[in-house]
Amino acid sequence: LPSRHVTARVAPLGSRLVLVLVEDRTRERRVESVRRDFVANVSHELKTPVGAIRLLAEAVSDAAEDPEAVKRFAGRMLTESDRLSRLVQQVIELSRLQGDEPLETPLAVDLDEVIRVAVDTSAIDAEAKRISIVTGGTHGLQLLGNPEQVTAAVANLVANAVSYSDCDSTVLVTSKAEEDTVEISVVDQGIGIPEREIDRIFERFYRVDPARHRSTGGTGLGLSIVKHVAATHGGDVRVWSAEGQGSTFTLVLPGNTDTSRAEARTEDPD
Ligand code: ADP
Repeated sequence: LPSRHVTARVAPLGSRLVLVLVEDRTRERRVESVRRDFVANVSHELKTPVGAIRLLAEAVSDAAEDPEAVKRFAGRMLTESDRLSRLVQQVIELSRLQGDEPLETPLAVDLDEVIRVAVDTSAIDAEAKRISIVTGGTHGLQLLGNPEQVTAAVANLVANAVSYSDCDSTVLVTSKAEEDTVEISVVDQGIGIPEREIDRIFERFYRVDPARHRSTGGTGLGLSIVKHVAATHGGDVRVWSAEGQGSTFTLVLPGNTDTSRAEARTEDPD
């Protein structure tokens, strides 16, 4: 181990014996450095919308005589403040999850409900792009975990599928059970992700093409949240993607099927 990752204490135990206590602090140092980077990144990311809102506020007061310009600037202020509040909300979510500690008191999570709420969260954005969100798979699947976290993870996947798809396309959200896991897949026909980028998209604040994606109002934190939710549940997130063809994200979580309730879900648009 590098010496900076180790602390040692020496205690004499009599005239010929010495007790040496060596402590491996690698994990603590790693956690500290992750936390420092996170704070630095958050501060940097917060500066952009805050700076934009300030400039726009100045522009509004300068343009008091021109109602059209005031309207335009006010619209952009709204967009930036929405982005700011999404960012703050995701930072809070992520900082709660970052320890990847297993859940203390897992609750029953009803996947039908998770999918319903997650799809609902993106309904307005999907409608604006005439994207139909279709759900399918197996009804009545359950797992033990944190319902809010699982819903947030699936909602992030659905929101991404809508953001990175063209108008008039379809997003499919399905659930199924394997032997001792449940899987939720979100399939889109969107822009896809270049192969060389796939390993990086789960990093905090990483965006494949920040300039192009700015209009989606994303924060670069969504997939990081999904990854941490998977980790705290002892699960995994898988991705398949091809540029120009679309992407499939699958959240795999340990779970069981309530077979008495499980039944084939009929495809139901919306
Ligand atoms: P963002 O807020 O930017 O969407 P995420 O962490 O959710 O942040 O995603 C990171 C990056 O991964 C996105 O900026 C985008 O480049 C890429 N990405 C995520 N989901 C998809 C998808 N379904 N289709 C294409 N690219 C995606």
